[in-house]
This record gives sequence, C-alpha cells and structure tokens, in this order.
Amino acid sequence: MTYVVTDACIKCKYMDCVEVCPVDCFYEGENMLVINPSECIDCGVCEPECPAEAILPDTEDGLEKWLEVNTKYSESWPNITVSREPPADADDFKGVEGKFEAHFSENPGEGD
Ligand code: SF4
Ligand code: SF4
Repeated sequence: MTYVVTDACIKCKYMDCVEVCPVDCFYEGENMLVINPSECIDCGVCEPECPAEAILPDTEDGLEKWLEVNTKYSESWPNITVSREPPADADDFKGVEGKFEAHFSENPGEGD
C-alpha cells in the first residue's frame, strides 16, 4: 500500500504535505506533486495536512490511474522537502473537476 496524490493537487500545490513527510518522498512537477510509492511508508500524516484533499490511500477504489501517475513521475521529477508559497491563483483551482485533462503538465518542477 501507499498514499497517492490525485489531480485535486493540480494548480493548487499548497505544499503543506512536504513538510510533514518523515521519509521525504514527495516529488515536484510544474503544477502538481506526486509521492514515490516505493518510498512511502504509509504513515498517513500527510493526508489530513492537504487543504485540497488531494492525498488518498491507494486502498480506496478507483485510484489505479493515480498510482500509475505517482509511480511514473516520481522517477523523473525532483524531490521536494521544503514548502514554498503556493501559486497566487491556487484557490481558484481548488475543487475544480477535470484538472488532469485540462492542466496536467509532464514538466518537472524546481525541487528543493
Ligand atoms: S498539500 Fe495537497 S495540494 Fe498541496 S502540494 Fe501537497 S498534495 Fe498538493
Ligand atoms: S503517507 Fe507518510 S510516508 Fe507516505 S507520503 Fe504521506 S507522509 Fe510521506
């Protein structure tokens, strides 16, 4: 089992999650973070920290796509362990549906 980041994170990227992860397993894309499933120790402390409710345990139904996305991009995006200011328009995208299709970017973020 692991926790995964879903598309609720896209263009929100509040980054409250990265500060609490004891094993630093968040990786940064241009407008979304992912978790490395092989590093996550399933502690669950990040889940309640996310204001966008973007982090879920992969034991919930229907998260296979997000497990794939987290696995794939955590291999190439840079590690991030320290939060920065969220995007100025983060609140405008909170709770918006269909963000993966409309806004997902394969580009890496800056990392630490
Ligand atoms: S706290 Fe939530 S929305 Fe913010 S970066 Fe982490 S997973 Fe994404
Ligand atoms: S569940 Fe724990 S180990 Fe996994 S990403 Fe969240 S804080 Fe890190």
